[in-house]
Amino acid sequence: MVGMTQPIAFDNSYARLGPGFYTRTAPTPVPGPALIAVNEGLARRLGIDPDWLRGPQGLAMVAGNAAPPGAEPIAQAYAGHQFGGLSPQLGDGRAVLLGEVVAPDGARFDLQLKGSGPTPFSRRGDGRSWLGPVLREYAVSEFMAAAGVPTTRALAAALTGETVWREAPLPGAVLTRVASSHIRVGTFEFFAIRGDVDRLRALAEHVIDRHYPEAQSPMQLLERVVAAQAETIAQWMALGFIHGVMNTDNMAVSGETIDYGPCAFMDGFHPDRVFSSIDRAGRYAWSEQPHVAVWNLAQLASCLLPLMGDADAAVPQATRIVHGFPALYDAAWLRRFGAKLGLAQPTEADRALVERLLALMAAQQADFTRVFRGLATGAARDEFRDPAPFDAWAQDWQARSPDLGLAAGASPVRIPRNHRIQQAIDAGFEGDFAPFHRLVAAVTQPFDDRPDWADLADPPAPGQEVRVTYCGT
Ligand code: AMP
Ligand code: MG
Repeated sequence: MVGMTQPIAFDNSYARLGPGFYTRTAPTPVPGPALIAVNEGLARRLGIDPDWLRGPQGLAMVAGNAAPPGAEPIAQAYAGHQFGGLSPQLGDGRAVLLGEVVAPDGARFDLQLKGSGPTPFSRRGDGRSWLGPVLREYAVSEFMAAAGVPTTRALAAALTGETVWREAPLPGAVLTRVASSHIRVGTFEFFAIRGDVDRLRALAEHVIDRHYPEAQSPMQLLERVVAAQAETIAQWMALGFIHGVMNTDNMAVSGETIDYGPCAFMDGFHPDRVFSSIDRAGRYAWSEQPHVAVWNLAQLASCLLPLMGDADAAVPQATRIVHGFPALYDAAWLRRFGAKLGLAQPTEADRALVERLLALMAAQQADFTRVFRGLATGAARDEFRDPAPFDAWAQDWQARSPDLGLAAGASPVRIPRNHRIQQAIDAGFEGDFAPFHRLVAAVTQPFDDRPDWADLADPPAPGQEVRVTYCGT
């Protein structure tokens, strides 16, 4: 029972896995904690009193100055393939898992501080985060949740009163992140590459209990993760979302979108769009994301093989499961884009219709969000400099008798546009968080037409467009 002495119902199952999975590491206290935002709805969902969270003890927790009773702060170990190359030792270098909250309905969530100071996994990093990435992750992850995409969430953001040194001195901040877990493909890699089959098995059993209780074996676990990722990535595609760093350490086995770094939503559409400053080859471009997912899931399959019994039988079976991704993804993609066209039961012919529209949009770099929303409202045509090809397309589309209500429910009016995130960060830098709060309010009601938020639905004016995003940790 949660009461005065224990404001959060912690039950730390990952910590019980024992040594080797993590190191015990407390957040490093900060000199000037100050709240930026508290997510009251999410707090209630977790069974945490929003007033407590806003109070001195809550602030002490989210800034990393005092862990509440029941917390067992740890830094989780993981490895990962970064841009295709194996890093055998990554881990929480700027994050600490405070513990797992069991919500009133029994659901279990990780409570993690990101930017909470150095850990044994920090290597040369300072373990800190500056304000920019904290505000970006807060706004984007909360939009994703509101749009129905599996994602980690943001419970709070706080300033630390510390200066963080990047290319320049910047204000430090901490994000309180909530996830169904922070277990990554890279967590499995960590044990697999060390040949630690006992811990690998314990991890697989933990993930099955926690995320896929119906799975009867590591093979079925792989099958579930493949299916979950196919659904999530189809949803990214349908929002014009580019994750930006789809390394295996940034792919959660729960299927939740995790680690919002140089991520972005496209304004003008092009399938090869990349934002991340470090992704020169376009490995993680919008159109590459389903292919990269297969690559990452193949790494997970290799990790699980030692748990799958006779290799002669397991290898072809696991391969079939990974190769099953495209069919699952294609079906999810057609369902999502079909709905955006107002088609409840899209056919393979409708797939070609969607692809034709995307090709028209790419040719004119039409705004992704406004074109799809415009299908529901009749304004899509205005997004094309040359509307003739669109008009021809729209005739074929109308012949399919689209349900415009369905279309409106599948395409948001507002997304967290890059230039608006940038403006919110710039204002926050000056101590003004009003633009950030307004942006979060607007993008967490993404499907409602709201004239007072019309400016947030506008594409960037010339000169406002953000073309590059940075990890900027
Ligand atoms: P990312 O791909 O940005 O999620 O991070 C890759 C790895 O770098 C993870 O192990 C992070 O914990 C670590 N890392 C990133 N930024 C920092 C930092 N400022 N201090 C310490 N470690 C960091
Ligand atoms: Mg990461």
